[in-house]
Amino acid sequence: MRIGILGGTFDPPHVGHLALGEAAIAQFELDELLIIPANRNPIKSIKTVTPAKHRLGMVEALVNGRPNMAYSDLEITRGGQSFTVDTLAEMQMVRPAEYWFIMGADSLRNFSEWKSPHRLVRMCRIAVAIRPPLIVSDVLVKLPEEFKDNVDVISMPPSDVSSTEIRNRLHNGQNINSWITPEVQQYIETHKLYRNV
Ligand code: ATP
Repeated sequence: MRIGILGGTFDPPHVGHLALGEAAIAQFELDELLIIPANRNPIKSIKTVTPAKHRLGMVEALVNGRPNMAYSDLEITRGGQSFTVDTLAEMQMVRPAEYWFIMGADSLRNFSEWKSPHRLVRMCRIAVAIRPPLIVSDVLVKLPEEFKDNVDVISMPPSDVSSTEIRNRLHNGQNINSWITPEVQQYIETHKLYRNV
């Protein structure tokens, strides 16, 4: 069994996340891509984060009906800061499998500052994709040598989409239709999210 885990804040989830997940599924022949919204991201803290139940609801709307994609509330249920190493340990215990932890190049930049990175790479492979303006090789040259053998590069066309830009656009009343799926857009409208960013 091959499982990919895509962690993040997903505030909101967007088509860049989908493209990243789909590229990973195809490249590593994953049986499943599991999207796990963080309860609290220890590294990337944005000032006001949308409540976890809504970020989870939006992720559910994103994956609904997509074969090979699922989501989990494991980090939200665990509470506190969401450390990837704890999540992988839990997953390996309840569902032993070959795991890839998937991310954009921006997330790999500070990998050595993550909690227990050496333990983490014993439990999964790290899969990293281009995240404009960062290209993977720029990040890889700065990655400590001991982690390089644990990294797989995902090849995908660059996507400029980011949750920050979506929140800004919503705040300014600009169009974001091509950046999120209709289902996520519907969820945002139903729950009146991002009205006062
Ligand atoms: P924000 O703009 O608030 O920082 P984000 O768009 O980066 O958010 P996250 O939920 O933090 O969204 O991202 C989860 C993971 O998906 C991260 O590893 C991030 O690098 C990756 N990712 C997000 N958007 C893209 C994209 N357009 N291309 C490649 N990777 C992406």
